Amino acid sequence: MIKEIEIQTDKRYQLIDITSQVEEIVEASRIKEGMIFIFLPHSTAGIILTENESGLKSDWLKLFEKLTSGIDFQHNLIDNNADSHLLSGLVGQGKFLPIENGRVIRGTWQQIFLVEFDGPRKRKIVVKILRDKN
Ligand code: ZN
Repeated sequence: MIKEIEIQTDKRYQLIDITSQVEEIVEASRIKEGMIFIFLPHSTAGIILTENESGLKSDWLKLFEKLTSGIDFQHNLIDNNADSHLLSGLVGQGKFLPIENGRVIRGTWQQIFLVEFDGPRKRKIVVKILRDKN
C-alpha cells in the first residue's frame, strides 16, 4: 500500500519533523510486520533521522550552509539552486524502517525529518508499506 503526506515548507532551508504523520499511516494500515519506505519525489529536499532538539536542528542548518557556501557551482547559471540539489543527494531522498508488532522501529533520538533545501515549496512524501509474507 502507498500513502502520501503533503507539507508546505516556509523557509529556504528547514527541518520538519514528520514522525507522527508517518506513524499514523503505519497504525492505520494495521500491518503488524513489515517495512516502511519513505520516499521523496524531489531532487532539492532530503530525509534524515535525527533528534528533535532545537540546538541540533540549527546545527544541521549551519552545517548544510557551510558545506556549500563559497563554491562557484555551474548549475547556478541555470536556476541558482546547485546547493539544494547537492545537499539533497548527499542527505538522500529515502529511508527504510522496520515495522514490528504494528510499530515503526526507531531509536529514542531518531525522529524522521523532511529537510527542505529550496523552499518555500509544497513537498510530497510517499510512504510505501511492505507487509511480511507470513
Ligand atoms: Zn536546479
